[in-house]
Amino acid sequence: MQFYLNGYNPGNPDIQAAAPGVEAGSATLPDTTDVLIVGTGPAGMLLAAQLAAFPGIATRIVDRRDGPLQVGQADGVACRTVEMFDAFGLSEKLMREAYWVNETVFWRPSPDDRSTIVRTGRVQDVADDLSECPHLIVNQARLLSYLEEHMHQSPSRLVPDYGWDFETLTVEPEGDYPVIVTLRNGTTPKTVRAKYVVGCDGARSRVRDAIGAVPSGDFANHAWGVVDMLATTDFPDIRLKAAIQSADEGNILLIPREGGYMVRLYVDLGEIDPANRESFRLITQDQVIQTAQRVLRPYTLDVRDVAWFAVYQVGQRVTDRFDDVTADAAGSRLPRVFIAGDACHTHSAKAGQGMNVSMQDTYNLGWKLAAVLEGRARPELLRTYTVERHAIAQGLIDFDKEWSKIMASAPRDPDHPDRGGVDPAELQAYFVKSGSYTAGVGTQYPPATYLTAEATHQALAAGFPIGMRFHSAPVVRLADARPMQLGHAARADGAWRIYAFADASGDRLRALMDHLAHADRSPIRRFTPAGADIDSVIDVRGIFQQGHRDLDVEKLPPMLLPRKGRFGLVDYEKAFTPDLKNGPDIFDRRGIDRTNGAMVLVRPDQHVANVLPLGAYDALAAFFGQFMLDQHKA
Ligand SMILES: Cc1cc2nc3c(=O)[nH]c(=O)nc-3n(C[C@H](O)[C@H](O)[C@H](O)COP(=O)(O)OP(=O)(O)OC[C@H]3O[C@@H](n4cnc5c(N)ncnc54)[C@H](O)[C@@H]3O)c2cc1C
Repeated sequence: MQFYLNGYNPGNPDIQAAAPGVEAGSATLPDTTDVLIVGTGPAGMLLAAQLAAFPGIATRIVDRRDGPLQVGQADGVACRTVEMFDAFGLSEKLMREAYWVNETVFWRPSPDDRSTIVRTGRVQDVADDLSECPHLIVNQARLLSYLEEHMHQSPSRLVPDYGWDFETLTVEPEGDYPVIVTLRNGTTPKTVRAKYVVGCDGARSRVRDAIGAVPSGDFANHAWGVVDMLATTDFPDIRLKAAIQSADEGNILLIPREGGYMVRLYVDLGEIDPANRESFRLITQDQVIQTAQRVLRPYTLDVRDVAWFAVYQVGQRVTDRFDDVTADAAGSRLPRVFIAGDACHTHSAKAGQGMNVSMQDTYNLGWKLAAVLEGRARPELLRTYTVERHAIAQGLIDFDKEWSKIMASAPRDPDHPDRGGVDPAELQAYFVKSGSYTAGVGTQYPPATYLTAEATHQALAAGFPIGMRFHSAPVVRLADARPMQLGHAARADGAWRIYAFADASGDRLRALMDHLAHADRSPIRRFTPAGADIDSVIDVRGIFQQGHRDLDVEKLPPMLLPRKGRFGLVDYEKAFTPDLKNGPDIFDRRGIDRTNGAMVLVRPDQHVANVLPLGAYDALAAFFGQFMLDQHKA
């Protein structure tokens, strides 16, 4: 964590200095704003937290609720989400409070007495080196409160405007603020004009309806009872995530919760009767608990307190497009309205993806909006949001159908294999195989847009697949000999990152640093605005091959010791060496070509965009030239 760059401020360094002229939480909604976000769920709050880092961009976030969510809804926080939260400086808070899902167990009918259950398997939940971050469980309300606090402590002092119901919007063909939104607070109507509107307003999204986007897929077809409870039990795995299938009483997914005592049970309530869609709503908390008690036999479950209960039904649906540009206008118009999260995709809660994928949607969109609104990138960049995230959502629906089917299948009876069902070993194998997907680290953007290059030079850094998130590994920061994760150098600050891995002699790395600092076609010289810190648009990091005691800080190229801020202070946190005490070093672990080195270009949302040779200056210039705007043209 770096602070005091522009002067010493006593007190909590998480509270950043407010930008000049910014006042905390203006009571009235303005008539105009750059970005209007509708919905304070995970998708909306993550986007607001991202945009709050840019006080030059006017952002407002509204919700029809009277105040923040207090209880319930999702609780699974995938490894990738924890990585993402690290970029906001929030991962440690999450990890401190959350339950850590380290192992998962599987329970099936006992072969001796099929009316009871036995444990059939136990697996590590997150495979070694899948992510440096754990899989966590914490309630959605707490996670949202971290984001809200972060926004409020940012230079923009952004706070949500609760109590505002989005009614509709229209988009004018031109004008500075072309999106006209009508909102209502009780009987008080309000019109806000915005440059961009993002609908994060959940599964029944009105923003989606207003832009004519159409969800398709299965209508709500399956129901679960969800109970957050404090209970006593003799079930031995009550503090482990457990997939439990009984012979005749149904299935449970048991999720231990934060705090050491609470537990969540997802009780499968089966298919919804298409002729009587609302009948499942009559299912009571007591009925759900009684089903759970029957599934758990021979173990007992004595429920002492219920913190939250819901019957939750959901269809597997994805919306045809995630912005307001219809197919026939694709070449002629740029998007002004976007939708994200449950507004564009809904699926079962069983794989724990809802909250995670929703936030990944807006993490993809946030930096693009900031780059366009700050005049750093062409507005065409915004077209890539739908292209990238629609494909991910479709993949999620396909995965969820398969996952839900296998999770809901009856266990195979060894005495009657002809009756079908799923073998416990098959279910466990599927769970392990899907591990990287459910951890959120399997996402790979294909080269469908210019943000993901072809894998021409992938062999130089085989362990950083183009399109996937930058997979962190241990390093030692040179200047202060601090062991750390290289991926944690990235902040949610909208900057691109070039990770330059040194060649054997280090000569090519030094030549690249010289090029970046001085050449006219250097993307850093072209795209960094006058007066801005040199790492504010593209942040360069050097990773050397020798140990940290064998490399002299004073011999680093100036590009890796940049001067920043109003006092021209030196940033000593740009150069790294391998962590030789912690398993294979980063060059071996991530398959870096030790002879030639490699340049890994990473997007602000931490997905690898390109891998290039250290001397590929033309390709580097061409890559950024596709979408960034020259800051020094007359
Ligand atoms: C009742 C319920 C129970 C759930 N249970 C689980 C669960 O057990 N496990 C699980 O994994 N997932 C669960 N989910 C799903 C999970 O919460 C979502 O996948 C996740 O929250 C999606 O985030 P989002 O930001 O896209 O939308 P949401 O979290 O739905 O947020 C949408 C926000 O928009 C606001 N809004 C809606 N319409 C308007 C409007 N017209 N004007 C202004 N504001 C508006 C809403 O008040 C809400 O705050 C549940 C969802 C619901 C609704």
